[in-house]
Parts: sequence; C-alpha cells; structure tokens
Amino acid sequence: MKKTMKAANLYAPADIRVEQVAVPEPGEGEVLIRVKAVGVCGSDVSRLMETGTYTFPTIPGHEFGGEIVGLGAGVEDVPEGARVTVIPLIPCMTCEYCLIGEYTLCREYDYLGSRCDGAYAEYVKAPAKNVLLLPDDVDFEMAAMTDPISVALHAVKKLGIQPGDRVAVFGVGPIGFFSVQWAKALGAGDVIAVDIFPEKLAAAGAVGADVCINARETDAVAAIKELTDGKGVERSLEFAGSPITQEQCIRATAALGSTVWGGISHQPLNLSEQAVDDILRKELVIRGSWNSSFAPFVSDWENALAFMGRGKIVKGDVITHRLSLDELPDAIQMMLERKTDFNKVMFFP
Ligand SMILES: [Zn+2]
Ligand SMILES: [Zn+2]
Repeated sequence: MKKTMKAANLYAPADIRVEQVAVPEPGEGEVLIRVKAVGVCGSDVSRLMETGTYTFPTIPGHEFGGEIVGLGAGVEDVPEGARVTVIPLIPCMTCEYCLIGEYTLCREYDYLGSRCDGAYAEYVKAPAKNVLLLPDDVDFEMAAMTDPISVALHAVKKLGIQPGDRVAVFGVGPIGFFSVQWAKALGAGDVIAVDIFPEKLAAAGAVGADVCINARETDAVAAIKELTDGKGVERSLEFAGSPITQEQCIRATAALGSTVWGGISHQPLNLSEQAVDDILRKELVIRGSWNSSFAPFVSDWENALAFMGRGKIVKGDVITHRLSLDELPDAIQMMLERKTDFNKVMFFP
C-alpha cells in the first residue's frame, strides 16, 4: 500500500483542499524531503486565489526548509538526514540564458509549487542539485526564508551601493525587511524604511532601519528630501509593488543615483511630469530585479546562507503567523482580504 501524507492541494483558483495524497517518490537525481517549515510567498496569495497553478491539482509552496529522508537513484552527494533548503527554480540548462548562468531568465523552466508539486505538504521531492545544506545556526524557519533573503540580495546588489550611501526601501514586507539588512551589510549609511503598516516599520527598525516613515501619515518624498538636505537618497529600492511607490522612488532618489524595482504591481505606470524630469535631469538609473541567482555562477543563495549562518541576516519579528497546514485555506483568505495585519506567514506541516 502507498504511504500517504497531508497536503494542501490546489484544484482551481480559490479551491484549496487539505487532504491525504500519496507521498511523492524521488526519481533519478531527486531527493525526498520532510518539510519542517514553509512560508507563504507574496506571489502565493494571487497564485492560490486568482491565477492558479499551471496544471491542477498542484501542491503550491516553494519557500521551505526540511530534512532529507529519501534518495532517488544516482544521488550520492546529499546525506540522508541532512538539514536543507531548496531552490524552487528548476532551469532547463540548455536555453541561451541557462548557458550563461542567468537561470532566472530561463525560457523553459520548471518550478516547485507552481509548475510541479511544492511544499505545502509533509513531504516534497526535488532535484538533488537544487538542494543546499543549512549552516548549523540556521533553523528551519530561517531556512524557509532563504528564498526571500536571496531575492532581497539580488536586488540590493543591483543598487551598486558605495560606502555610506543612503538607501530608502519602499515596502518593508519580508523582502524589504531583509533588504534593509543587506543594505547595511553591504556598506550603506542611513537606511530609510517606508511603509504604511506600523508593525512592518517597527520590525524593520529593530533590524537596522535608521529612519522609519509611515507613508500614510507623512509625505515620504518630502520627508526623505528633508533628511538629505534636499538631495534625496543615493539608492532606492521598490518592494511595495505599487505605481505610487514607483513614482516616489524616482522622486526621492538623488542625482546620479539608482533605483531598483522588485515589487510586482501588475499595473500600468503613469509618471508625473516631475518624475520624468527627474529621470532625465538627475540621470537616474532605473533597474528591474527578478528572482535570485544561484551556483555555479553568481550564488545569491549561497551568499545568503553564509550571512545567515554568521548571524548577519536575522529573522527578527518578521514572522507574524505560525500555523498548521489545516489552517492554510483560512490564512490565505485572510491575506487576500487583509483581515488582519501580517508579515511573513509560516506553516509547520
Ligand atoms: Zn517566493
Ligand atoms: Zn533555460
């Protein structure tokens, strides 16, 4: 008889069922992982409730940590019992972008939790080469945030921070929260956190943001200009995913500065005349950032784990909800409707 496990299975947008399904069997080159902690990615709320996964049913969930409990054929380099996290992107390795190590741009990728089964379950299978061992001091909660921590690093690196540069982070949900820490770790001077939720600002302040601006109460651009003698910040980061903050990023960035955008807005952008003037007259660089890189070329993931292991990137108070898998459908509904304030929501299957 096949072994079964509890999983949250998506049958259609907004149709998530927590049910018993067969435990996946690791194929050649794959490992089986007992999921210990899995976080809700910002992208999961719209994926589960609106857009759906690529096929149905699919078990979503791609930010997780766990323990290796089974090895498929040909896997030798990952020890059973190892504590791990997993890169959810499975690149094709043959397209023009994969050949130069730009896996996030792959044209034929697979993806745990959207194109194949993910980790909102007791067990998940994954290619052994996507598995990274955890440093001793990194717990499963931190492991489950290696993805957003790596996404934050990928974006912050693109800012080109020079020692002492002032950095404004617009949107301090989980990725912005970790971006604040990366900006500090990479040599920024004052880091300014901007958000409309006081709890998120408090969490960012506790891990290094020097100034926190609540944009619901204060004109963020005016406040940043005032803090910087009218110049603006040398670097700004957009992780709120809103046309409002995209405009604010441009307006708040100093001449010859750069602004990197990683927040997904799914909306058009109409810039003010002032913002368009700013781009030209201040010779601003506006750059997009998508996902994160991993070995063998540039490895945001390995760099992230190294900094996490040394306590340079910490979880602080970013996790606001610790829940069981049975609570997942209600939790996703709560996040969609924003019934309560939340930051990182995590499940323990
Ligand atoms: Zn994610
Ligand atoms: Zn590819």
